[in-house]
Amino acid sequence: MEVVTHKCPNCDGPLSFEPSDQKFHCPYCMSVFTEEEVSAFEASQKEARLQNEPVSQDDTETIVEEMVDDQEEAMALFICPSCGAEIVTDATTAATYCYFCHNPVVLSGRLSGKFLPDKVLPFAIKKEKATEEFLQWAQKKWFVPREFFNKAQVEKLTGVYFPYWAVDAEADGEISGMGTTLRVWRVGDIEYTETKQFDVLRKGKLNFNELIKNALSKNTQQKMVEGVQPFPLNKAVPFKNQYLAGFQAEKRDIEYHTIQKEIQNELARYGENLLNNSVSGYTSFSRRNRQFQITEENNRYVLLPVWLVTYRGDDQSKKVFYYAMNGQTGKVSGVLPISYKRLGLTSFGIFAALAILFMIVGYLI
Ligand SMILES: [Zn+2]
Ligand SMILES: [Zn+2]
Repeated sequence: MEVVTHKCPNCDGPLSFEPSDQKFHCPYCMSVFTEEEVSAFEASQKEARLQNEPVSQDDTETIVEEMVDDQEEAMALFICPSCGAEIVTDATTAATYCYFCHNPVVLSGRLSGKFLPDKVLPFAIKKEKATEEFLQWAQKKWFVPREFFNKAQVEKLTGVYFPYWAVDAEADGEISGMGTTLRVWRVGDIEYTETKQFDVLRKGKLNFNELIKNALSKNTQQKMVEGVQPFPLNKAVPFKNQYLAGFQAEKRDIEYHTIQKEIQNELARYGENLLNNSVSGYTSFSRRNRQFQITEENNRYVLLPVWLVTYRGDDQSKKVFYYAMNGQTGKVSGVLPISYKRLGLTSFGIFAALAILFMIVGYLI
């Protein structure tokens, strides 16, 4: 398993991806590089290493081979290429920070082979902006414990690339039945009713683009990641693990075939709705037949950007609350914890105000 810190071609400092200009920044010498420049530099380093001494370790790219069984372990240890400290990760962690030297590290082995993503949608909203929006949003919400948006909490705001399946499909759909129109009118004392019956057939090719499905089982915050959709997948780029530098990333642990049936059912539901809605202009419609056949189905494994803060309530339920923001569009989704203390105080305030109002009214009478 490889652990990589992408390094500055200029000074060897740790590079991070910067959402505001979509380039790679070095915090030490302030150099800025494009993805092409970083890739070209790393390729040339690799070549030089191979040419020189195939056995010697070159530390420019700093690859540490770990004798870790790369089967699915609950936790795994890696050695930080910059400071040598141990990095503890979940089985699905694919990019993180070294806890000790804060250098970004990418566990590139976890996103290779069959786990190599097809595309990554880079962050476009930077941390300062995400933080600002989070504070504005949280402070507008009344019954929120202050701890949810105190400084330490805000510092936990993390940019995470989550794994998803993006599904494109094509289907043939057909619906048929009898449509009836009814017209009633009156001339003098006589009421006329006209009933017309139609044979209705709707038939067509249905195209589904970019149905997005969660691919991480520990995403207990399923709703959260759904809440920040849609993601503009047209802005996704072919995957390079450089983009993960400076962010957290998770690799998938839900395989497509395990959710395929569910996805096909969902497509069928969408398709039927579309067909049903296309039958209009009748007073009533009784369906005789319907068909839905998926003719093509393609999936892509993609990493999508989410800014995230979670908060575990300190009451007995230990309920987890979250705030999530789409790292591209800024769309927000969140369930905030309710502080009963603050809620109680406010209700008392309202009660007191009412009582005073009654007293005034009473006085006037
Ligand atoms: Zn540098
Ligand atoms: Zn370190």
